[in-house]
Amino acid sequence: METSGFNEEQLTVRDAIQKICSNYTDEYWMEHDQSGEYPHELHAALAKDGWIGIALPEELGGAGLGISEATMMLHTIAESGAGIAGAQSIHANVYATQPVAKFATPEQRQEWLPKLIRGESRTCFGVTEPNTGLETLKLRTTATRDGDTYRISGQKIWISSAQVASHMVLLARTTPLESVTKASEGLSLFYIPFDRSQPGLDLRRIPKMGGRAVDANEVFFDNYTVPASALIGAEGQGFKIVLHGMNAERCLLAGEALGLGYAALGRAAKYARERVVFGRPIGMNQGIQHPLASAFMHLEAAKLSTYHAARLYDASRTDSGVTQHAIGVACNSAKYLAAEAAFVACERAVMALGGMGYAQEYHVERYLRECFVPRIAPVSREMIMNFIGEKALGLPRSY
Ligand SMILES: Cc1cc2nc3c(=O)[nH]c(=O)nc-3n(C[C@H](O)[C@H](O)[C@H](O)COP(=O)(O)OP(=O)(O)OC[C@H]3O[C@@H](n4cnc5c(N)ncnc54)[C@H](O)[C@@H]3O)c2cc1C
Repeated sequence: METSGFNEEQLTVRDAIQKICSNYTDEYWMEHDQSGEYPHELHAALAKDGWIGIALPEELGGAGLGISEATMMLHTIAESGAGIAGAQSIHANVYATQPVAKFATPEQRQEWLPKLIRGESRTCFGVTEPNTGLETLKLRTTATRDGDTYRISGQKIWISSAQVASHMVLLARTTPLESVTKASEGLSLFYIPFDRSQPGLDLRRIPKMGGRAVDANEVFFDNYTVPASALIGAEGQGFKIVLHGMNAERCLLAGEALGLGYAALGRAAKYARERVVFGRPIGMNQGIQHPLASAFMHLEAAKLSTYHAARLYDASRTDSGVTQHAIGVACNSAKYLAAEAAFVACERAVMALGGMGYAQEYHVERYLRECFVPRIAPVSREMIMNFIGEKALGLPRSY
């Protein structure tokens, strides 16, 4: 990827992350995809050098950088060949901790975040539910106050890294939907111990298409008891609080998509330069060259959009002129554009390699399988169009 225009901090991050990722070969990622074995080594290496806390405050052991740098980190991990799997092995620890850092009490932050930054604990993110899907405000998992504990009951689905997490950032309903005036009220955010040896917590791993080194799970809570001190911020305000992390997540995932897209195009261009058919490199044919060139330009456009969104997100900390509306429009647009650009790049890379595009040893088939994730999660492309139609264009809500 062309790196002109990035600031010194972003380039320093890119350089350091490239060095760490160079220890994990394409074969490492192919084997982990095949076996489903978790890439613990990458998480440990990133934690050792302090990268899990890239966007967390320095007084807690973090690097105190912004989402612009964190996006560059996830982008670089994906682009190294680690793909979405590599990025997802730390993803939730970077973005889901943003609302924790902002809204938890100093005591809570001190108890939870330094351990996570050092890699001694790790979190997963529990929002999606099987029966409510993208209609987050209708989620049914409940947290019921009982003395100095909460009892959690309900079900989550698609929870990444739950098999290895020691904690979960959990969104659950504390006031029934029927008893609130707005559906966005009555939801609360928690940072809960996630301990399968305790009663009331069960997991089931979901076999999936790509990124198979990182587990995705169904999670079952049945009166699972957590301390009341796991609540972040005020009870009932969890939706507003979690939104703070969701815009950050859109930037990170956009970065991951970009990394995957650039990696795919790099492989396709290399193959197209070297593979000779009909007496010349296949890349000399415009039928091969132009689709790759156009995919590259779409990635470049998505790159601008992604780092613009991350810059707005970071600027809003000190510049009250940057509205949450502007951040939402920018982060959603970036996630959409990067995911679509990555999909085009990966699909064209497979086609440029012909039969070898379909062979595992050339890795682009793995990238193609993985590039669906940024299109689906954390919010689908259709829901982003709904959001932009309504919020940016002022059109009537369509759903
Ligand atoms: C690999 C992977 C990892 C994930 N990791 C996590 C995680 O760690 N934590 C977590 O909480 N979640 C996670 N998710 C869940 C992810 O965020 C959801 O899958 C995503 O939000 C879509 O929700 P759904 O699957 O329930 O889709 P549904 O809500 O069932 O929607 C299905 C389809 O219908 C479309 N649709 C629905 N309503 C409308 C409408 N009004 N207008 C237009 N189209 C509509 C959607 O766009 C989508 O294409 C992960 C998902 C995947 C695949």
